[in-house]
Amino acid sequence: MDVKKRISELREEIRYHDRKYYVENNPVISDYEYDQLMEELKKLESEHPEYVTPDSPTQRVSGQPVEGFSSVKHKIPMLSLDNTYSSKELLDFDKRMKKFLGGEKPDYAVELKIDGVGVALIYENGVLVRGATRGDGSTGDDITSNIRTIKSIPLKLDIANETKPLANCEVRGEVYMTRKGFEALNKEKAKKGEPLFANPRNAAAGSLRQLDPKVVSKRNLDVFLYTLSYTKEGGYKTHMECLEAMKKAGLKVNPNINKFSNIEDVIKYCDSWENKKETLDYETDGMVIKVESLEQQKRLGSTIKNPRWAVAYKFPPKQVTTKITDIVIQVGRTGALTPVAVLEPVELSGSTISRATLHNEDEIKRKDIRVGDTVFIEKAGEVIPEVIKPVKEKRTGKEKIFIMPKKCPVCNSDVVRPEDEAVSRCIGLSCPAQLKNSLHHFASRHAMNIDGLGPAIIDQLVDKKIVRDISDLYILKIDVLANLERMGEKSAQNLLDEINESKKNEFSRLLFGLGIRYVGRHIAKLLSENFSSIDEIMHAEKEKIEKIEGIGGIVAESIILFFRDEKNREIIEKLGKNGVSMESKVEKKGLLSGKRFVFTGILEKYSRAEAEGIVESLGGSFTSSVSENVDFVVAGKDPGSKYEKAKKLGIAIISEEEFDKLVHES
Ligand SMILES: [Zn+2]
Repeated sequence: MDVKKRISELREEIRYHDRKYYVENNPVISDYEYDQLMEELKKLESEHPEYVTPDSPTQRVSGQPVEGFSSVKHKIPMLSLDNTYSSKELLDFDKRMKKFLGGEKPDYAVELKIDGVGVALIYENGVLVRGATRGDGSTGDDITSNIRTIKSIPLKLDIANETKPLANCEVRGEVYMTRKGFEALNKEKAKKGEPLFANPRNAAAGSLRQLDPKVVSKRNLDVFLYTLSYTKEGGYKTHMECLEAMKKAGLKVNPNINKFSNIEDVIKYCDSWENKKETLDYETDGMVIKVESLEQQKRLGSTIKNPRWAVAYKFPPKQVTTKITDIVIQVGRTGALTPVAVLEPVELSGSTISRATLHNEDEIKRKDIRVGDTVFIEKAGEVIPEVIKPVKEKRTGKEKIFIMPKKCPVCNSDVVRPEDEAVSRCIGLSCPAQLKNSLHHFASRHAMNIDGLGPAIIDQLVDKKIVRDISDLYILKIDVLANLERMGEKSAQNLLDEINESKKNEFSRLLFGLGIRYVGRHIAKLLSENFSSIDEIMHAEKEKIEKIEGIGGIVAESIILFFRDEKNREIIEKLGKNGVSMESKVEKKGLLSGKRFVFTGILEKYSRAEAEGIVESLGGSFTSSVSENVDFVVAGKDPGSKYEKAKKLGIAIISEEEFDKLVHES
């Protein structure tokens, strides 16, 4: 075997696959097959060290850690680009170009501005000989050994006829880290307890500054090359031609580059990337617009600081700072209370922002946002702007800590926040903020089943303040309904009939229709089987509700809170007055079926719980307060005020003995 020839073949093959994999993102062999080739090459090279050359694929990570980087002078100064921030500035740029070119209309090449670290690579005879940072523009750091570890940078170019001028050239580009690579790196750093990088650009810059190429080789750095800045022998006429040649030679060029013949299309293209850029796996902070013709570029020349023929278009910032003047509460359709920051108006992404969401109480606490704080706000896509964080350095000590209100700012009902939830909610049945939603749910098929009460009708009823809470449905008049839009006499009558019909519904439907949090159809059914009326549930102890199989503590708590609310009780009372059935029609078979008891005083034979258990086992029910709905008051020793009240109301009062007899009848 001709070892030298085999080594050369292997290198060519590996180079080809490196290009397919790292540059074109289109591998044609498996990792295993690739590793086999690499192993064979390594073996041959170790047996024949005399054949090892710096451009061999085995030599990417070579050399020892260095003390520091040496400075190198750039062949041609690496100027920075002039920035523009609006379409107007781009129009001005276009005017300048035309004026300078004596009325010629230049074509423009437009490309993404990659947010990375600028580098200049020098190839001699097709072999990478130097990689340097931009530095101050005229002098940079020689980071060749680090650059060599980046697998998408070829150590040797494919030089053919069309790419001949590239044999001796300088190309420039941006070394970057993908978002994915950045996250993985930070995760690893976090695990080791090391400080994290702030963003992918910092991570890329920090990695390139590493003194040990072995460390750099593990950092998943990548590159996009965007300019052929120098060739020993010329040969290309336009920027796009240069890029094409660079691609052919195996250099990685960003695919999102387009040529336009007028500035309007350039602006459109720039705008199109403003949101689309988030879909890329690397960060961009704008676009670069270049005059296409190299001859025109030459005529345009440079100022001391910037080339005249190119300009950067920066995407509008996503974040700005402003001051929170107040935090107000918004009540959503489902009763969720959302704290909203009232801001000193500020321009962001082309609109004036005066409010931003704070999501919920925990978010405010976590970010430590206070009224009076200067804060960063951000707008991502089309969503409502969000408060990111306070600038604590700007605090004066007069900032106020936010406290979630205990009452709904819209309806003054109780606000509750279940322990395991982040969201606080208004539980008010009559809450105007939720009324449309409540009505919709109340009328739904599995609730009160009022089919004719659709969204369009609900909107009108609520907006015209005809219905202020669900009980108002039951006092609707035919002429009022018939006067609504898209409503005739006949459909008004139909709706009214449906509403009337719903009064007779089994009360589990009503329970479900009230929209008590966690009370779905199933729980409503369970409740209706275990209680004989809404009134009974309203007065039940939490323990009793909890005891029902299938109902847990959280649900019971939610039911208790709902019925504790004064306004909710008012509405339920009104529903009853308006004729809605509040009683269970589920027949409870038993001796005491339908009978309701109140116990007062001390019982001798039974404990209170035992007595209550007996009543329930016989189909009766008990409650703790005396009202007209009570059938028997069982008076033990030393009865309290309930005894007096029962007497006043003329309710049957029986002794424990009589109770005992009653339950043992038959
Ligand atoms: Zn409310």
